[in-house]
Amino acid sequence: MQVDDIDRVAVLGAGSMGHGITEVVAIGGYDVVMRDIEQEIVDEGYDDIEWSLQKLSEKGLIDEDPDDVMARVSTAVDLEAAVEDVDLVIEAAPEQMDLKKDIYGDLDEFTPEHAILASNTSSLSITEMASATDRPEQVVGTHFFNPPVKMDLVEVIYGDETSDETAETASQFIESIDKTPIYVKKDVRGFVVNSVLGPFGDEAAWAVSEGDATIEQVDAAMVHQRGYPMGPFELSDMTGIDIGYHVRKEAGQPIPPIVEEKVENDNLGQKTGKGYYEYEDGDGTTYEPGDGEGFDTLRIEARMVNEAAKLVGNDVATPDAIDTGMRLGAGFPEGPCRRADKIGLDEILDTLETRYEQTEAERYRPADYLVELVNGGHTGEDAGRGFYEYGSDDGNREYRTINVERDDRGVLAIELDRPERMNALNEDLMDEVEHVLDNADLDEVRCVTFEGAGDRAFSAGADIGGFAGMEPYEAAEVTSMFETVNDFPRPTLAKIDGFCLGGGHELALACDLRVATEDSEFGFPEISLGLLPGGGGTQRALRMIGEARAKELVFRGNRISADRAENWGLINRAVPSEAFDDVVGEFVDDLVSGPPVGLRFAKQVMNEGDDASMPAALAMESQAFGLLMSTDDMMEGASAFMEDRDPEFEGK
Ligand code: NAD
Repeated sequence: MQVDDIDRVAVLGAGSMGHGITEVVAIGGYDVVMRDIEQEIVDEGYDDIEWSLQKLSEKGLIDEDPDDVMARVSTAVDLEAAVEDVDLVIEAAPEQMDLKKDIYGDLDEFTPEHAILASNTSSLSITEMASATDRPEQVVGTHFFNPPVKMDLVEVIYGDETSDETAETASQFIESIDKTPIYVKKDVRGFVVNSVLGPFGDEAAWAVSEGDATIEQVDAAMVHQRGYPMGPFELSDMTGIDIGYHVRKEAGQPIPPIVEEKVENDNLGQKTGKGYYEYEDGDGTTYEPGDGEGFDTLRIEARMVNEAAKLVGNDVATPDAIDTGMRLGAGFPEGPCRRADKIGLDEILDTLETRYEQTEAERYRPADYLVELVNGGHTGEDAGRGFYEYGSDDGNREYRTINVERDDRGVLAIELDRPERMNALNEDLMDEVEHVLDNADLDEVRCVTFEGAGDRAFSAGADIGGFAGMEPYEAAEVTSMFETVNDFPRPTLAKIDGFCLGGGHELALACDLRVATEDSEFGFPEISLGLLPGGGGTQRALRMIGEARAKELVFRGNRISADRAENWGLINRAVPSEAFDDVVGEFVDDLVSGPPVGLRFAKQVMNEGDDASMPAALAMESQAFGLLMSTDDMMEGASAFMEDRDPEFEGK
């Protein structure tokens, strides 16, 4: 079955996941029926969807009226009636194999023959569920993350007999509801995200159990030095210490003493008021930024990379799927494969081998694929190949953190594509932006636009994780991308919808023009981190809006509204969301139809003149004026004016 053949969807279960999945499927435009075993539970799930849609609508996160979305949602208690005419079923019933097998037996009987049966299970075997049906090739895993409305990732899991057609249709369906699918090509325990995430908590717990570190030290190091959104112990308290305990038990893995002790004493985390931190008698986490000093974070990261290597080596997932999964599913600042290629796979392997020799603990045994890569000389980015191929820098590079498109009018559109980190700038992203601009064909490009992916931010700053562990001399080079943008010989426009903070704000200021939605917010929060805006922010803001206002932004670190930003001259226009595309369109129309050489010189003399004395700046201006007098574009401009028509400039 093809994705276009899917019209009606059934979701089984109206619990935490079921109602959320129903909601995203309805927002995606499908008719969906949500089924649970009692009317009361279904009604509760229905109310939850209604409430959530209202919230999304208030925040401007859905375009449609919530009532129109609700009109596509129906509910049922009777299974047969619910699924008799659907094309796809997503099952989100409790995590018990016997129950799921019963359900799959019934579904096989009641659903149309062509229907795909998908399970939202987070840990059970798709193959085993499929065995309860006569259509195992049409059974697939679609593992959403909690809460489905917010989390972008869905793992699409093959059972042993799942057909490519079924998996592809499931994957396209996930895309059609605006989520990001990754393929998990084999039915392995934990699929991709939980497999790689396992060692994050496990190795942390061993480090503390073995007396090598304290809880605060590990959490602080992973968050403040390595940029993870939460420390391993903090995360474990949030998800429940018993969850990780049972996963290890089932997998037959040894359990770190500290985990054993917490479970024995029923200190399971936030839900019991106490875990690694105190929630009832305390304020939760107690680690501070400096506490991480001295902890060897590589022992945790090397083990995650090792899991990734097992998955790649066993053809379960590609490095790209793993990295996407970890960024979107676990909020990692960058994927483990990419990060490992930067660290050096030889160093990762060395860490594992040394610990394996010292402890003989199975968890450090290096994956065959990792050994293979290192023995083959594929030790990472510096070697030209690791998990990824880096190849020669011939301008045809595949970008990972930005999307780039050029239309036939010459608009080079650059989208910052790290929505899960609010498009924060990291080393890769800045490097890729520079690469695009350095390799742009000026004959083909008439203007450049920058925007942020997702619906929350242009860019919320620089990714602190990326700066941690950086030497001072390296930080001094952070600004090169901003200068490349500032000096690019074509006009640049920042399209700002949402947060425009820190490094993102500085990128916007490095552009020539800025148009923002009214709800956007601007600021330089760097001072609260003990830093200052380092991408030219102090200087460009100063020249643009004057000393008093620039110092207010930089010293106080507060955010200002788009209206105030417009008032201050920080941006060109603040416009209502509805008018945003039109206003941006008008700016872009003028930029692409303007004379390229004229615009180039105008930009250059205005940028450079800003730093020069008035006489020197005027001299630059008249020199540029003289040069322009001899261009074809000037002749074309003059004749079009005389003939009362629109000029067609060619940049000559
Ligand atoms: P939940 O307990 O909140 O909801 C399960 C619902 O299924 C309940 O309302 C229950 O009444 C209903 N149910 C029981 N038997 C049913 C049947 N025969 N037909 C239809 N509905 C039935 O559980 P949940 O957290 O929503 O988890 C559901 C599934 O999603 C599980 O497989 C779980 O592993 C998976 N999952 C959960 C999360 C999470 O964070 N909660 C994340 C990803 C995946």
